[in-house]
Amino acid sequence: MSVTVRFAPSPTGHLHIGNVRTAVLNWLFTRKHVGRFILRLDDTDAERSREEYAQAIIEDLEWLGLQPDAVFRQSERLELYEQAAEQLKQAGLLYPCYETEQELALKRKAQLMAGRPPVYDRAALRLTEAARKALEEAGRKPHWRFMLPEGAITWEDAVRGPVEIDLSTLSDPVLIRADGSFLYTLPSVVDDKEMGITHVIRGDDHVVNTAVQIALTRVLGGVPPQFAHHALLRAKDGGPLSKRLGSLGVRDFREKGLEPETIVSYCATVGTSGPVKAFIDMDALAADFALERLSRAPARFDEDELLALNADVLHALPCEKALPRLEKLGISLSCEEWEAIRANVGLLREAADWEQVLHGEIAPPELDEEDRAYVRLAAELLPDEPWDDTTWKAWTNALKQASGRKGKALFMPLRLVLTGRAHGPEMSKLLPLIGRERAKARLEKAAD
Ligand code: GLU
Repeated sequence: MSVTVRFAPSPTGHLHIGNVRTAVLNWLFTRKHVGRFILRLDDTDAERSREEYAQAIIEDLEWLGLQPDAVFRQSERLELYEQAAEQLKQAGLLYPCYETEQELALKRKAQLMAGRPPVYDRAALRLTEAARKALEEAGRKPHWRFMLPEGAITWEDAVRGPVEIDLSTLSDPVLIRADGSFLYTLPSVVDDKEMGITHVIRGDDHVVNTAVQIALTRVLGGVPPQFAHHALLRAKDGGPLSKRLGSLGVRDFREKGLEPETIVSYCATVGTSGPVKAFIDMDALAADFALERLSRAPARFDEDELLALNADVLHALPCEKALPRLEKLGISLSCEEWEAIRANVGLLREAADWEQVLHGEIAPPELDEEDRAYVRLAAELLPDEPWDDTTWKAWTNALKQASGRKGKALFMPLRLVLTGRAHGPEMSKLLPLIGRERAKARLEKAAD
């Protein structure tokens, strides 16, 4: 089956880990089923939407590798929404209302006090022609509500299973504001219909909207798409993530030095039945992906988990991907070198330390007299080149014989002198990469 999905952010801010997860899920769905991934910028709110955010969203998706097949801006499609509004008006399903915000608030309060749900009472439908005229002459501009049909809307949600929403519990939604601008609902339905969207994959904050949108799609003569509402990510303490979005932007993670595969892997695997897992190969990730595996319970965002995943990504990052990224950071390593050190970096820029170990100068460690003598001996016993990954073993075996040392006492001074640190990649891999000349110089310097 060929599918068409859309990611529909409002360009009123930067992409953050919560909404980018929606993008990832949509994109993966098209990778798995073959289809189109549309970026739809919901920019009908002219006051809050900004072109710079629209550009940033496009750039961030590109960096993540989530290339859309098409980009649409709702602000360029207003005519279509006008036509749909007209169709609804003709059918008597979009009606003008004149209540002010204040009047509506009072009504709600009275309803609540009487123990009734605060659902709009459709008073505007009972206005006489004369009353309406009087309001208009007094300068009141109408907002327009969609008359919801009777009964319940049901659908089979790919994440939540069967959902039923009784429309009598909802107010007729306002589709057009008094200033003539469209709220999100109608443009979204019109676009989903026009663009042939087969699946709407989005956060579960939209579940109630879906009931309204299904009703609206039907009266406009369309067939509702399939819906999948994933549970929104929550903060570590279980609170809403939205309050803490300041530092959780895709840009922030990029600046911190995380890899795009980390963000995509995280978004694709967090809140599923399995563990969070690193993927480099997006086809493998797509093959592993199923909407049905998304959990209904909200997952918690944990930055430490994201950082740990980045280390897993780097550990698996092949050199053809790693080398150009290293180069951009001004770090030059060969494939062999990258493969030797990649398990020892949590962020790509940390590879600079290992570049230094392999190509540059390192500060000699402070050694006591005994270790200095040992290191002098080690310099004398360095095998001749060519070196490979058996050299370390041969050298340390010879040293063991000659010095009587073993274990940590045998290995640690060598590691410290050759790399300047107590931890790192296997010495059998590092030693041939450091090379005889550099190794000898470091040993002799430390022995002085
Ligand atoms: N602009 C809406 C939002 O960001 C889109 C929701 C949808 O996917 O329909 O919440």
